Amino acid sequence: MAEIVGRIHSLESFGTVDGPGIRFVTFLQGCPLRCLYCHNPDTWNPKGKVAYEYTPQQLLDEVLRYRNFIVRGGVTLTGGEPLMQPAFCREFFRLCREEGLHTTIDTAGSIVNEQTLSVLDYTDLVLLDIKALDAEKCKHVCAADGRNTLRFLDELQARSIPTWIRHVVVPGLTDDEAGLDRLVSYVKSYTVVEKIEWLPYHTMGTFKYKELGIDYPLEGVLPLSADRIKTIKEKYKDALNRESSAE
Ligand code: SF4
Repeated sequence: MAEIVGRIHSLESFGTVDGPGIRFVTFLQGCPLRCLYCHNPDTWNPKGKVAYEYTPQQLLDEVLRYRNFIVRGGVTLTGGEPLMQPAFCREFFRLCREEGLHTTIDTAGSIVNEQTLSVLDYTDLVLLDIKALDAEKCKHVCAADGRNTLRFLDELQARSIPTWIRHVVVPGLTDDEAGLDRLVSYVKSYTVVEKIEWLPYHTMGTFKYKELGIDYPLEGVLPLSADRIKTIKEKYKDALNRESSAE
């Protein structure tokens, strides 16, 4: 069998925003979605330039250097779309579990097949990015209609895998009251959903578009204000009626 090698865009050894506690976060290269607001366009091309090419064991060896720091946190795979490299994710998580490390994957769940679902065998928490619930709106925001993401959520429920929903709120695009209400009502019926993370749109990645020579699709759209995101968080803070739903 050919050796599994992950194509890794970058590493962050003390991540605090991608799952519980302090985490070793690995950004994998490749993503098919092309979200209008993406701040990591340099991760899109699966064959693009990467910082590392590691086997799962090599990545684990790197992680273990930080073991004392992440003992109450764990490891997170993100990207890009990590599930573009399912064999790598699965084997890395399997090794992490052997070491007693908590495993989290941040995914849009847009690729649903036997291989991607097999990663869930070794996954403790999923951060599931829902771009938009409405299929037409989702196709406008990214290169998918979102149905696979909802199928993925069904699978998480069937497997009882704790899930945090993530949703980027973009002025004039996804910041609509009725749409947010619908999203909350939809995910609420899934008992695995522990939390909804509202992510304010920002423009910190726009320089990367310039570097890559790509037009930035949301030129002129201002970042979501701190007041607006506070209002949204406040409005839905008890929406799930679950102990862990408060941030
Ligand atoms: S899923 Fe994430 S990495 Fe992929 S295009 Fe969308 S925001 Fe960018």
